[in-house]
Amino acid sequence: MSVNEAVNPAPEKEGGLNFVEQAVADDLRAGKNGGRLSTRFPPEPNGYLHIGHAKAICMDFGVAEKFGGTCNLRFDDTNPVKEDTEYVDSIREDIKWLGYDWGDREYYASDYFPQLYDLAIRLIKEGKAYVDEQTSEQIAEQKGTPTQAGTNSPYRDRPIEENLDLFQRMNAGEFDEGSMVLRAKIDMASPNMHFRDPIMYRIIKHPHHRTGDRWKVYPMYDFAHGQSDYFEGVTHSICTLEFVPHRPLYDYFVDFLADESYRPRQIEFNRLNLTYTVLSKRKLLQLVKEGLVDGWDDPRMPTVSGLRRRGFTPDSIKAFLTRIGYTKFEAVNDISLLEFSIREDLNQKATRVCAVLDPVKVVITNYPEDTVEDVDMENNPEDPNGGTHKMPFCREIYIERDDFMENPPKKYFRLSPDKEVRLKGAYIIKCTGCKKDENGNVVEIYCEYDPETKSGMPGSMRKVKGTLHWVSARHCVEAEARLYDRLFNVENAGEEKERDFHEMLNPESIKVVKNIKIEPFLAENAKPGAHFQFQRIGYFTPDSKDSKPDSLVFNRTITLKDSWQKINK
Ligand code: ATP
Ligand code: MG
Repeated sequence: MSVNEAVNPAPEKEGGLNFVEQAVADDLRAGKNGGRLSTRFPPEPNGYLHIGHAKAICMDFGVAEKFGGTCNLRFDDTNPVKEDTEYVDSIREDIKWLGYDWGDREYYASDYFPQLYDLAIRLIKEGKAYVDEQTSEQIAEQKGTPTQAGTNSPYRDRPIEENLDLFQRMNAGEFDEGSMVLRAKIDMASPNMHFRDPIMYRIIKHPHHRTGDRWKVYPMYDFAHGQSDYFEGVTHSICTLEFVPHRPLYDYFVDFLADESYRPRQIEFNRLNLTYTVLSKRKLLQLVKEGLVDGWDDPRMPTVSGLRRRGFTPDSIKAFLTRIGYTKFEAVNDISLLEFSIREDLNQKATRVCAVLDPVKVVITNYPEDTVEDVDMENNPEDPNGGTHKMPFCREIYIERDDFMENPPKKYFRLSPDKEVRLKGAYIIKCTGCKKDENGNVVEIYCEYDPETKSGMPGSMRKVKGTLHWVSARHCVEAEARLYDRLFNVENAGEEKERDFHEMLNPESIKVVKNIKIEPFLAENAKPGAHFQFQRIGYFTPDSKDSKPDSLVFNRTITLKDSWQKINK
């Protein structure tokens, strides 16, 4: 168990509030900000959203929903070099898929560039900001350490007029990138490192996806975020714990703008870390760029789009996030909790079907050649209104190769010579023999069926230990299955510093199985977004990119049981 579960009783179950909701409720009760509640989700459009972002989204939108407030979508687009409209579009799609709506409140930090620039000018005029011409290395060297004061920059006491002139010329494009920055003049001896004359603006000459070449100076996160919250009317700026030491600086800049009637407040919760995966955008981008995965939405990626393509549901992701909760302590959550949540959800929702992944033919020798029977198959035993569908049965069927053994060990309850098994939804059959090729591989199995044992008839009550899934050889359709597994085979792949992350990739994270045999009902209903349980095998969904009506491709969302548990014990 991770720290999270130990300290965090499931809030939902107790009807209680988590600590962020509690803080919001207190502020509302105290009538702060005129009783208004406004949050924001602030992604930087430099990558696709991952499940960690989903945790932030559920918090930001969830708390607004719970207390009758609103949540804005604000793209934190302050670094044009890494940002792209492809990312903006994917972020919108993913938030909607998770079930949240920002209405017409779609904002961009770049919308506030003029106001931020004006505030910078004001700070320069008040003697609270200066242009530094040192290199980033020199600036870093002068930072000092948490226990040792930093050193003042030689440019710190430049006259105000000179700062104004230089800053305006920085923005006019007169100077090279990296040659100058605008710094806040606060305190180089502050115990909070973020107060040691933080950088407010740097020069970037790359065109911006929204503002083009209008700006040559771009604000740093710390100079942009709090003020953007303020300009937008955000009351509660909820973010992750690494921003705790930034909070005094957030408040410092907001103080130049806010008054008693309204001021945004930053609250932090623990970020999501998951075993057997990485949630750093930089590493995810690397996986994409190096072609180690099939794009940001590869079904093995922990991205929202990857999880969607893999067959995860928004409900399962939310159930997982509720289960792990929100705390003030960093922890690593076990990915098996996420896997448990999707199994639990799909057990309720997925339609049961038959698919044979490694087929071997069975001939039922006493069954008439030309007869076809439609047997009834239950769609979902978990759903009283789930209904049934028809599946054709005839003389030749396919079963899984490993459901037959010529010389079985003692407790093998599947098919073997002279033994009986039940064919799900159909009859009990008894094996009479098999045919092998020159290498000794079984190519055909022979059986006889007992006509008295048809499913639903009294004779079917007879006890046999094994029940097999099967498909009609004459009616089945061929398809492809992609068996996905965890992307990394190292538990703390996200944290590991010693090893290169290439070495930790799970070589078995995808297995492609061609020519699987599926029942006709599945072929007819394999629409994108549908969820199926291939009986006895796992949960599958049609691949949203590659599956076509005449060449179906199924992604395995998750196995029926957790096979990693055993391996690790
Ligand atoms: P970057 O390193 O590019 O800043 P980021 O993961 O912080 O990456 P953002 O786009 O800045 O990405 O994140 C948007 C919001 O999502 C932020 O409020 C951030 O705190 C939150 N967030 C990001 N990663 C996680 C995570 N693993 N768990 C919870 N929240 C997260
Ligand atoms: Mg960030």
